[in-house]
Amino acid sequence: MQSRLVQEFLKKSDISDILDSALAGRRLDLNDCIRLVKSDDAYSMGLVASILRERKFGDTITFVNNIILNYTNVCVTYCKFCAFYRPPGHEESYTVPLEDIVKRVATSREMFGITQVLMQGGHNPSLRVEYFEDAFRAIKQKCPEVGIHGLSPSEVDMIARVERSSTKEILSRLKEAGLDSLPGAGAEILEDSVKEQISPLKIKSHEWLRIMEEAHGLGIRSSATMMYGTVETEEDRARHIMKIARLQEKTGGFMAFIPWSFEPNNTEMQMEGLVKYPSGGLQLLKMIAISRIMFDGLVDHLQSSWLTNGIGMAQLALSYGADDFGGTLIGEEVVSATGARSTELTSDRIIAAVKQAGFRVAERDNAYNIIRYH
Ligand code: SF4
Repeated sequence: MQSRLVQEFLKKSDISDILDSALAGRRLDLNDCIRLVKSDDAYSMGLVASILRERKFGDTITFVNNIILNYTNVCVTYCKFCAFYRPPGHEESYTVPLEDIVKRVATSREMFGITQVLMQGGHNPSLRVEYFEDAFRAIKQKCPEVGIHGLSPSEVDMIARVERSSTKEILSRLKEAGLDSLPGAGAEILEDSVKEQISPLKIKSHEWLRIMEEAHGLGIRSSATMMYGTVETEEDRARHIMKIARLQEKTGGFMAFIPWSFEPNNTEMQMEGLVKYPSGGLQLLKMIAISRIMFDGLVDHLQSSWLTNGIGMAQLALSYGADDFGGTLIGEEVVSATGARSTELTSDRIIAAVKQAGFRVAERDNAYNIIRYH
């Protein structure tokens, strides 16, 4: 009865053929994705995405108890969308010493029971690979149960350039030292015409994909991200999604996809007048729903992006296909540099937010295994 009602409702949509295919488990292509991105029917997409999520995860939404360790803000890549970095020698620049890294992880494990440290920072040309190897080894020695989710492909590329080595060799050394998985940051939009405008000094799209493929080949799983709402076209967003899907078909190494909306405050892009305002809540819900629909059967987990969109929107995203609330993100410094509302949460706050949205909540570990239900 319910599915007949849903079918009747979806018939009226301009994308009903695509939504039918998605519900039937058929793989969608680039043209389908472009039509989804161009459609305004976010509600129908949300309905289908929610059905797909429920088929896989029932009424359970997960989150991870974690900290973000932004180990340095020194960066020589000067992305126009970034409010976090400081050039080398700047009076506000910092690099967290090894002892402090270990202390922060150990204290957070003790105080909050974290199971993941997310380590990300700027492209600091003074940091050798030993800095990371020593940090990872020390964390694993002190807190073996804490998963290290660290270093996006562009950070790995920076270390390789500092060491005059290959990214594969660097990944292999980092894995040996204790790196568990790679965050998908630095992808922004995997179209070089976009990257040239917003981050011309960062690695190109094919390099991001190559480093991810190398990581997956070494058994280092990862997440993938998309930062939308800058200068990209609707086709660029669709092509980005398809590039991730193609690589996933090859490697199966992506655990999760996280679409982020760009936060323009305090960035060069806002100062230059390229982007004045964030892209807003409806886009967030639409991109979450499109991600669930396009990645169904390919990438399991989809995060609800509370960090840039606020808790209220993240709660709504759970009804548009997201199955994971992300992390508590204690210590976050990158998004907070844009003045965005709240950039860290306690696990109690996340548990309450998920329950308020009508779902069962479970804490997971770095590899998305459920640790306990709340
Ligand atoms: S986004 Fe990352 S690479 Fe780009 S300027 Fe900021 S810290 Fe540097």
